[in-house]
Amino acid sequence: MLMLHTLHALTLVSRPNTKWRDLLPPLEGEQPLWASLYSTLVTRPVGNSSWRLLHGAVSTGTYLARFNPIPDTCLFYSVRETLAHVYLECARLQPLFWLLTNLLLCFWLHFSPHLFIYALPITKSQDLLVNLLLALAKTAIYKTRERRLADGVSCDCGAVF
Ligand SMILES: [Zn+2]
Repeated sequence: MLMLHTLHALTLVSRPNTKWRDLLPPLEGEQPLWASLYSTLVTRPVGNSSWRLLHGAVSTGTYLARFNPIPDTCLFYSVRETLAHVYLECARLQPLFWLLTNLLLCFWLHFSPHLFIYALPITKSQDLLVNLLLALAKTAIYKTRERRLADGVSCDCGAVF
């Protein structure tokens, strides 16, 4: 194990800690807030969705099509399904994002893709609640996509949220 780590150490050191650095370049001074993904409000299964997303460990159509004879398109619309499409760009997410926009305004926050993906730094107790909302939204996206994949059922991720 130590030998493997040593052999790949240079590769690991130069590897970005999240795919989102390319997909959604962090703003100046911004960085993924791994510690903010879990808290007393965000339980492990819910936080795991955010953690997997931030790592890019989500099987998208584009990824699965490399190994299986399946189309690389979105399960809801006929466009190429990338990680950014699944969690930011798909038209089915718009009602959910409007809901999050309105909810975050209650906290004087502006909903943005950066906030959604990288999470909010926890500086006060309300930040825990905001990160819980963001994590639940990611879980709703994940679960509705999984349900569509399993049974072809289309359900509103805003309603699941
Ligand atoms: Zn889509």
